Amino acid sequence: MTELTIGWLYPTLMSTYGDRGNAICLQQRAKWRGIKVQVLPLDLQSTIDDIHQVDILVGGGAQDRQQEIVMRDLKGAKAEALRQKIEAGTPGVFTCGAPQLLGHYYEPALGQRIEGLGLLDFVSKHPGPDARRCIGNVVFEVTASRLAKDLQAMLGKVAVIIGFENHGGRTYLGKVEPLGKVISGYGNNGEDGTEGSFYRNAIATYSHGPLLPKNPFVADWLIQTALAEKYQTPISLQPLDDTLAMQAREAMFKRLGVGEVVAGKR
Ligand code: GLN
Repeated sequence: MTELTIGWLYPTLMSTYGDRGNAICLQQRAKWRGIKVQVLPLDLQSTIDDIHQVDILVGGGAQDRQQEIVMRDLKGAKAEALRQKIEAGTPGVFTCGAPQLLGHYYEPALGQRIEGLGLLDFVSKHPGPDARRCIGNVVFEVTASRLAKDLQAMLGKVAVIIGFENHGGRTYLGKVEPLGKVISGYGNNGEDGTEGSFYRNAIATYSHGPLLPKNPFVADWLIQTALAEKYQTPISLQPLDDTLAMQAREAMFKRLGVGEVVAGKR
């Protein structure tokens, strides 16, 4: 039987912004295809073996203080195991606070710089407690080349993602490929028009929402990629009826005044 293990990073510390919906969405969409799925929390008590057995990684947003606690735990052998998984192509979705930890460092609003895993080539800096947070709906076109191509093949059109961002930190990319180009909202820093990043099969984004129920094709890409990596054979998933989710997206595009721009990308 086909089986998947979803590794959920620090569920009690990093679920401030509703990103547990991503784990639920992956679990349910896998179940609907008859895939046996378990969600394994990867937290302070977890071992290296736990990290090694997961097929998909999910990490959510957190406040600065919780990010510090996580980073103190995510050192040494645990950090190395996570690094190996991502380098080996384990797919994952990392939202907001989670990707800040995968970059070189995060400078919180107050206090010391938090060193990250340095796996993705970017830095994140909070300009301080008085600076405006980047809050609101965000719409962006996926531009990361391999992912954009895969999603376009699935959808028959350019993939546009809608999410909700709420971050004080600003991310500045180095050589890592951006995930997308902002159509509406702030994205990585509100300055350079980039949103998120994409490395191996890891999706790093500022989009909560949660992201996957709002953009179910991304969930299917993660499941498909995880199965292909695990069973070493290309997999095509049985389609599901996503009419309601797609209608909700269209309604939001219209409400944000980007309906025509998004339609023009088809
Ligand atoms: N604490 C981080 C910031 O404000 C992350 C916030 C989040 O995960 N939504 O940038």
